[in-house]
Amino acid sequence: MVNRLSTLFVKKATVITLSLFFMLACSEQRADHFKLAGATMGTTYHITVLKEETATVSEEELQQAIDQQLQLINQQMSTYLPDSELSKINNKPSLGEAIAVSPNLMDVLLLSHEVSWLTSGAFDITVGPLVNLWGFGPSFDVNQQQTTPDPNDIKLLIDTIGFRHIDFDLGESSITKHKAIVMDLSGVAKGYAVDKISELLDYAGFKNYMVEIGGELRLSGHSPRGIPWQIAIEQPEANSLGQVFQAVSLSGAGLATSGDYRNYFEKDGKRYSHTIDPRTGYPIDHALASVTVVAETSAYADALATAINVLGPEKGMELANSQDIAVFMIVKTEQGFTTKYSQAFEPYIINLSN
Ligand code: ADP
Ligand code: MG
Repeated sequence: MVNRLSTLFVKKATVITLSLFFMLACSEQRADHFKLAGATMGTTYHITVLKEETATVSEEELQQAIDQQLQLINQQMSTYLPDSELSKINNKPSLGEAIAVSPNLMDVLLLSHEVSWLTSGAFDITVGPLVNLWGFGPSFDVNQQQTTPDPNDIKLLIDTIGFRHIDFDLGESSITKHKAIVMDLSGVAKGYAVDKISELLDYAGFKNYMVEIGGELRLSGHSPRGIPWQIAIEQPEANSLGQVFQAVSLSGAGLATSGDYRNYFEKDGKRYSHTIDPRTGYPIDHALASVTVVAETSAYADALATAINVLGPEKGMELANSQDIAVFMIVKTEQGFTTKYSQAFEPYIINLSN
């Protein structure tokens, strides 16, 4: 199963372990909690669950249900599987015709649209052709020499980009494409899968848990120490895996980080990020090293983190403050990294020097 799942969303397996790591999570199994882990969507997942007497399933049953859920979501949303529901829709030439969509996929498409509207198109799942053109699509190989595309090809593709080219019919659970768009859900699907696993845990009677896929998280209740979960935002450098940059404390929320320090290629001394600005067709190029978002759900945090990363340090922070979004930024300066955060993020900050 794990092997099947490694036909994936993103190539993060080779270039990323976690964008966050868990400072206070214990490394061994203990009487009061258990851990589950595996591979999915080109990356890894880690789940810590506090035991409940009222829980309705065993650990083995839970692991099985989680793997089934992940496999289902992968089969619905992966651009890496040619026969996934998303790939089939992407390959359908029919314009102006209603295409039936599964409830999960509809959820993600609607949430993506909401974030597109909110961010004036900085987040846009129709960015797929540009992601592929820049070499970050399914055929991406971190070890291969990358080339930068011809500016004329970028210009030609821009015309097919735009979340507005999709219409929704909620009653019929269908969408209609008005251009030959290609959707890419890699910027939101990991967060969505985290939320679906949280739902599964809630349903099985667990109240206190942490679910993480590729650095996108959802925290519920309290940690094994009986206090809210404590998470470390890591140092935004490719070779500094696991170094704590900022500790945060939260519960009953999702958290996601988007950064330019893992998924990129370098050519002639310039770094090209896997996050593309759909409005220009070019990878983002600004001083923002990483952006962490806390939101009600992990999917929302995931999409918003990617969006605010596109908007950059000034516009991104303006949006965060005007929309009351909890955002923490690490910004590159000539003197090193500096940080800034929105008002809504303040309650989560742990001041380690105290
Ligand atoms: P990060 O944690 O760096 O945000 P994600 O995996 O969440 O990484 O999202 C990045 C992926 O989303 C890219 O690999 C690409 O497939 C897709 N993507 C790139 N740019 C955008 C964008 N502007 N809007 C939506 N998705 C994007
Ligand atoms: Mg994202």
